[in-house]
Amino acid sequence: MADDRGPARTAEFMARLSEALGPKGVSTDPLEIAPHVQDWRGRWTGSTPVLVKPASTEEAAKAMTLCAEYGLAVTPQGGNSGMVNGSIPYGEVLISLKRMNRVREVDTLNDAMTLEAGVILTRAQEVAEENGRLFPLSLGAEGVATIGGLISTNAGGVAVLRYGMMRDLVLGIEAVLPDGRVWNGLRGLRKDNTGYDLKQLFIGAEGTLGLVTAATLKLFPKPAVKETAWVTLASPQNAVELLARAKAASGGAVTGFEIVSHFCMDLVLKHIPDVRDPAPSQAPWRVLIELSLPRPEGAHDMMEGLLADALEAGLIEDAAIAESEGQKAAMWKIRESIPIAERAHGKALKHDVSVPVSRVHEFIEQASAMVKSMNPGVDIIAFGHVGDGNIHYNLTPPPGVDADRFLEGEGLKLSAAVHDLIWRLNGSISAEHGIGKLKRDELATRKSAVEMEMMRAVKRALDPENRMNPGRVL
Ligand SMILES: Cc1cc2nc3c(=O)[nH]c(=O)nc-3n(C[C@H](O)[C@H](O)[C@H](O)COP(=O)(O)OP(=O)(O)OC[C@H]3O[C@@H](n4cnc5c(N)ncnc54)[C@H](O)[C@@H]3O)c2cc1C
Repeated sequence: MADDRGPARTAEFMARLSEALGPKGVSTDPLEIAPHVQDWRGRWTGSTPVLVKPASTEEAAKAMTLCAEYGLAVTPQGGNSGMVNGSIPYGEVLISLKRMNRVREVDTLNDAMTLEAGVILTRAQEVAEENGRLFPLSLGAEGVATIGGLISTNAGGVAVLRYGMMRDLVLGIEAVLPDGRVWNGLRGLRKDNTGYDLKQLFIGAEGTLGLVTAATLKLFPKPAVKETAWVTLASPQNAVELLARAKAASGGAVTGFEIVSHFCMDLVLKHIPDVRDPAPSQAPWRVLIELSLPRPEGAHDMMEGLLADALEAGLIEDAAIAESEGQKAAMWKIRESIPIAERAHGKALKHDVSVPVSRVHEFIEQASAMVKSMNPGVDIIAFGHVGDGNIHYNLTPPPGVDADRFLEGEGLKLSAAVHDLIWRLNGSISAEHGIGKLKRDELATRKSAVEMEMMRAVKRALDPENRMNPGRVL
């Protein structure tokens, strides 16, 4: 434990913690702790002297006050599905918010719901559905990712194009500050111009400014109908042009526009059971398009018309429109299974990058030519949210090359080259997953000195002792 005042003081901390939170709130059981100190992909393993599991904001505040008193660093954790080595502790006290999973309020007239940080995303979607509304955030880890983690990473997912990232979906936040004070910012307001918008500081902060304990989230009308199609096409450029046409033809009703390379499709077919290619083809790219419309009348015709026009214009090679809810789910399953298929394939070098939508094809084409010229044996796993300019651009080690050696050796050069290209195209080296420990050093070399100093100033103001998730982001 990062307390240098001796074992007696550590024992005293543990005793006071157990007294404050009770037996359900504190664990030192190595078997219980083990899954919390390993990341989702099994790439990193950390350690913690104690797992703290508050069941309420009051308990979370007691734990944080004690950590402050004993000068202990804290790592917050939700579903531990983060991708950037930010959610596992390296000696810090680990605070898991998963027991804080109550629905505090649903206010349908205000189109808002207030949930505790440990509520899992699928549950949040269900609560909205039970109240005749939509909570639109949706991503591959939705069965494990929590509201607190989604806020802390400003998560994106597959509906950002229409509804925005988590930052756009949060109306208010409740947080426990590093010194244990509770800030109740749970305002369900859409207009509130009363100075700095403090909740935005906690969104995307990756646990470096405090513990998010609850949030008031926006709800939306449920679309009456969704039209989903799977198309095959020759190039990312065609995909970008198809997106522009789809937006115009549907009056802005495009809620999903996901690109999938031929290689990704093959990986899914190989590793994921019960998957069928909706439009088998040798074409190098596929796109999943989803339109969400307020009325069923004319919806199918709108999708058919859009695809017929695109076919005639030579933008697409073939298309399959889902004719049932089952077929829609099957198309989404392909897209959402890619990270799982990729994991089954083996370790890969990840790039979660974004560029302006108009430059997606430029990025994919230039990056692929560059990567292949640097190392022809590498396979490229490219997929993602074209509608938001966000591409997951991952590289597998060449056949026969040890994955760890690749990631720590040749992979570093490839990553630097991919990120240099991203920077030249005015993009971001982290579109969705955040910075964590993984990209911390690189962040400091990419952002301007002014921007880094503003971020450090915010951190110093809220966490002057640098005890909240130290070594992540900054
Ligand atoms: C298969 C798969 C698919 C994914 N797809 C997407 C995707 O499409 N889009 C996307 O954006 N992400 C995606 N992710 C990444 C991940 O799901 C998100 O980053 C998610 O927001 C993490 O939520 P979590 O509850 O698991 O948080 P964790 O992984 O537990 O934590 C993430 C970060 O937030 C901090 N944190 C967690 N809870 C709190 C809290 N209550 N208060 C303060 N800090 C906290 C942690 O310290 C850590 O820094 C995917 C992950 C997987 C495994």
